[in-house]
Amino acid sequence: MLVYIHVPFCRTRCRYCAFHSIPLGRGVEAAGSPVVRDYVDTLLLELAHWGDRFGGSEVQSVFFGGGTPSLLPPRIVGIVLERLARYFRLAPKAEITLEANPESLRGRDSVPRYLSAGVNRLSIGIQSLDETMLRTLGRPHKAQDSLHVAFAAREAGCANISVDLMWGLPGQSVRQWLQTLKDVARMEPNHISAYGLTLEPGTPLELDCEEGRLTLPPERDQNIMFMEGAAFLEERGYLHYEISNFARMGFQCRHNMGYWEGADYLGLGPSATSTMLGRRWTNPASQQAWHARTRQGSLDQEAEKLTPRLRVLELIMLRLRTARGLRLKAYRELTGRDFLRDHQRLIQALHENGLIRIRHGYLRLTRSGMLVSNSILANLFERTENALKQPLPPGTSPLPASLTAEDGPEVQAVVWPSA
Ligand code: SF4
Repeated sequence: MLVYIHVPFCRTRCRYCAFHSIPLGRGVEAAGSPVVRDYVDTLLLELAHWGDRFGGSEVQSVFFGGGTPSLLPPRIVGIVLERLARYFRLAPKAEITLEANPESLRGRDSVPRYLSAGVNRLSIGIQSLDETMLRTLGRPHKAQDSLHVAFAAREAGCANISVDLMWGLPGQSVRQWLQTLKDVARMEPNHISAYGLTLEPGTPLELDCEEGRLTLPPERDQNIMFMEGAAFLEERGYLHYEISNFARMGFQCRHNMGYWEGADYLGLGPSATSTMLGRRWTNPASQQAWHARTRQGSLDQEAEKLTPRLRVLELIMLRLRTARGLRLKAYRELTGRDFLRDHQRLIQALHENGLIRIRHGYLRLTRSGMLVSNSILANLFERTENALKQPLPPGTSPLPASLTAEDGPEVQAVVWPSA
C-alpha cells in the first residue's frame, strides 16, 4: 500500500496553480502558525483513525506532496513518520519522498535534518532555470536557489533526487527549453519530471494568455519541445518511463509506479484521495471540514465502490501512460473480452500512424502517441464504454500480423475511424 500526505501550505500562490493550497505569506514561520499547528494535530488524528482500520498493512512508499511540504519543519515530518511506523509496517526499503520548493530549503542544515527524519527522496520544484520564466509563473524562488538546493542535497548525502520542470511556457522557445534541460542534466538528478504547461481556468496566467498579455509557444514548437526534450534526456541516460517522467536506471518513482499499476493508496490531509479495498473517497478540501470529519471519524462515509466499468477505464488510462503499456491479458481478466477485437479499427489506425506498438502481449504508446495521448484515450474510452454494453463475442480474434510488426511508419496526423 502507498501513503500520500497532502500538505496544503505554500509560501505564496503561483500564477498557474489551481491546486488546493493555503498561502502562508513571506516570512511566516510554519512552526508558529496556528493553521499549521491545527493541520498537524488533525493529521496525527487521521493517522490514528486509519491505523485502527488498516493497521499492520505494509507501506511501500510515503509521499509528502502539496502544496509545499518542505514548509513543514523536519521535526514535524519526523513525528509524522514515527507515528506512521507505529500503526503500519514500513517496508524495509520504503521510498519516502518529500516535495520541496527551492526557497524553502535555503537554510544550510535543512536537507540533512529531513534525511535524519527519514526522508530518502527529495522532489525539488525547480520548474525553470530562466528568471523571466520563473517570474511569469509567479514562483517565489530564483534559479540560483535551485542550483544551491540540488548541490546541498547531494552534499548532504541524498541519494535520490528528482526535479520538476515545465515546458510550453509563455514566451519560451525550443532553444530555451533545451538549454534548461542541458543545465539540469549537469546537476545530475536521478529523476526528472517534465510537464507541459496546462492553462487552468481562472488562474492569473490563463487570464494573461486569454487577454493577449502573454502568448504560449505555437503548437508545433510545443511538439518539438516534447519530442526533442525526451530524445535529449534519453541520450543522457534517462529512461522515458512515463509520459512526463524520466529516470536513471532503478530510480523510477516507486510511489507513482504504484498508482499507475493500480496499488491501494491511503491519502491523508485536506483534499487527499484514497483507494482502499475497492472503495474510493476524497477528504474535504477545506481544512475546517477535514478537521470536523476527522474528529467524527466519518472521512469515508461517502466512499464509492469502484465499479468494473471504472476499473477498466482506469486500467487503460493509467497503464497507457507508462512505457511498458497495457497488458492485454489484464483487460481480458477484468472484462472477459479481447481488447484488440473490441477496438480493432482504432488499433489498426493508430498502428498505421505509428502511434502505438504491440509487443509481447503489451500495447504501448510510441513517443508520437504520447504527444496525443489525451485524444487517443478519449477515443479508447468511448469505444470501451460501447464495447462493454455488447454481449461477449464467442471466441477471440487472432492478432493481425501487421499489428505485431516491430516497426511501423511514423505519420503525424491520424484520422479517427468513426465509432
Ligand atoms: S508551490 Fe505548487 S501548490 Fe503551491 S502555489 Fe505553487 S504550484 Fe501551487
